[in-house]
Amino acid sequence: MQPIREVLLFLFLAIFSKATGMKSCYNSRATVLSDGSSYCLSWRLAVEANNVRAWRTVPTRCLRYVESYMIDGQYDRDVELIVEQILSYVNQIVLSNNGMDAWILDVDDTCISNVFYYRGKRYGCDPYDPSGFRAWALKGGCPGIPAVVGLFNTLVDDGFKVILVTGRDEETFGQITRDNLHNQGFYGYDRLIMRTAADKGKSAVVYKSEIRKQLMEEGYTIWGNVGDQWSDLQGECPGNRTFKLPNPMYFVP
Ligand SMILES: [Mg+2]
Repeated sequence: MQPIREVLLFLFLAIFSKATGMKSCYNSRATVLSDGSSYCLSWRLAVEANNVRAWRTVPTRCLRYVESYMIDGQYDRDVELIVEQILSYVNQIVLSNNGMDAWILDVDDTCISNVFYYRGKRYGCDPYDPSGFRAWALKGGCPGIPAVVGLFNTLVDDGFKVILVTGRDEETFGQITRDNLHNQGFYGYDRLIMRTAADKGKSAVVYKSEIRKQLMEEGYTIWGNVGDQWSDLQGECPGNRTFKLPNPMYFVP
């Protein structure tokens, strides 16, 4: 009996939607499936949950989906919701006020955005291009991510020592990164830690773990750690709480 009931329901919905001019659930579902966004939503969710790992490019069929996600508002809403969660956690923290209450923020696609660079790389459908990214970063024109600029200022005002930790190397990108951060409203942080010659070749997890371990040995309490990559948040001394920002455009191992 079940298939007959489903056919009758479908016919009823089709007639009803025709009569009322409404788009039926069946029609919108078919549209979602035919344009591939259903697959791409699943892909993005799997990427964000770290179920898909070490991926090199966005599936070509998801180009329009990722483009729309990044620039039509959903990315911003997702970041805003995460920042709301961070702030509700921050409000529960009782600071020691000994100058050692630290908070770690990643830089690229956490504080400042590379979405305009990735627009030219088909939002990650094209493979990673080190020289292209280098040229982009050296322009120092990455816009601040608005919700994170607000978070940063709240953390500084509340008395956290905000420590920015980035995989960018000091020699090539030191001054331009400081300038870019400053012109996007990131000032008043405690330190900006970048890769030195000694960090060359280290994976992001190893490099960032070593820095956090060093900070804890110096006596810092790492209350929170925010990044757009899992490699910002994994390894040793990750912080009392970690927060993963969305990034469906690239994966840093
Ligand atoms: Mg990043």
